[in-house]
Amino acid sequence: MTLIDRGGVIIIGANVAGGRAAEALRVNGYDGPISLIGDEPSPPYERPPLSKEMLLSPEEIPESFFIHQGGFYGENLIDTYFGQRVEKLDLNSKRVELGGGTEISCEKVILCTGTRVRKLNVEGSSLKGIHYLRTLEDSKRLSAELSPGKRIGLVGMGVIGAEVAASARKLGCEVVTVEPQKVPMARALGEHLGGWLANVHREEGVDVRLETGITGFDGLNGRVTAMFLTNGDRVPVDTVVVGIGVIPNDELAKNTGLLTDNGVIVDNTTQTSNPNVFAAGDVANSPLYYGGNGRVETYQNAQDQALAAARNIAEADAPYFKPQWFWTDQYDINLQVLGDVTSPAEVIVRGETDGRSFTVLHVRNKLVVGVITVNKPKDMASARRILEKRILISTDLLRDETNDLRQLLKISRQTG
Ligand code: NAD
Repeated sequence: MTLIDRGGVIIIGANVAGGRAAEALRVNGYDGPISLIGDEPSPPYERPPLSKEMLLSPEEIPESFFIHQGGFYGENLIDTYFGQRVEKLDLNSKRVELGGGTEISCEKVILCTGTRVRKLNVEGSSLKGIHYLRTLEDSKRLSAELSPGKRIGLVGMGVIGAEVAASARKLGCEVVTVEPQKVPMARALGEHLGGWLANVHREEGVDVRLETGITGFDGLNGRVTAMFLTNGDRVPVDTVVVGIGVIPNDELAKNTGLLTDNGVIVDNTTQTSNPNVFAAGDVANSPLYYGGNGRVETYQNAQDQALAAARNIAEADAPYFKPQWFWTDQYDINLQVLGDVTSPAEVIVRGETDGRSFTVLHVRNKLVVGVITVNKPKDMASARRILEKRILISTDLLRDETNDLRQLLKISRQTG
């Protein structure tokens, strides 16, 4: 075993959370050693384009795809170990062990180990032509198969299924989606807006099969040729993409005795059950803005929780408590979701949900607790202030579309 006796902070996971944590440590004045370790070969990059722009034009990877440019890591004295997996975290000896017999010492750890795709386990699921989408390499492999006229089967119509469906249609593919729930993206959008999204995909020519599961795949010469559905249908396909959710990579934490339960348990300062270890991003199971605890699988959470972890190491006591926010781009639609849009609430629709431009507000006890905007980014900016600052506006005013939300925000500030 070779020991690299660095001390300082080790960040495990070179993704958006890991990269931002390293940057934020320096921004917040931490001048000790920082090591950033990740098992993917590339430096931290943006995942959102993998199911969109990268599928449409894989040959053009812009510099902005990587979250830091040029010699950022060297200039900031951040040691990087890309393409290297941490096999063990030992909190007694304060060391991490890499494959190949190297150990690195540390004082503090930020766990940004993220999630991995949940695999489908039905007959034929190891046939060639069945893809998962999580990494840059996955995206490159998939894009090579999305040519005009190809028949693409999508298993699961969560965010991956819906975004890949839109990209594949743009590329001229035939698309069939299979989803056991009543609507696509049910977890993120709820039933009403999920139903609206199903219609959008149908209008765009996707064969959307809801309340339908998959029982297996047919193949020829080792390659997938069809999907077998729970309703008995056999759907011929050339390529399949499975997007049925993710599993937290919390084994390193569990094996070293940290509290885990569907992820690494953290408090609202991102601290785990050990005061020297923090966790951020998809793997962190943290207190939620509207009560309870859970993992938040969004870009914004990965970034902001990582900033909080870094601040807590650099200065101490920076609470992290933000409502969830994510966006998705499908066809000509920019859809953004903020806060809680799935629990019972009074629902106010501004605009027409049979079109592609409207805003939905979820109101509870006179407070806006959730917002969905469809091609209304300005409404999202105003609604975010209303929600985060807990500004009380009567539901009559919220319903009255002659006042735009920015106006309402201004009036309520003057009167409040
Ligand atoms: P997801 O949890 O969003 O959706 C999974 C879907 O698969 C659900 O609709 C579920 O009902 C369905 N499903 C579950 N088991 C199934 C089965 N056996 N057969 C068929 N369908 C099944 O997960 P995802 O779409 O796989 O996305 C993975 C991760 O990537 C998530 O963390 C997601 O948030 C993230 N992501 C985010 C964005 C974005 O924010 N715009 C885009 C892409 C991916």
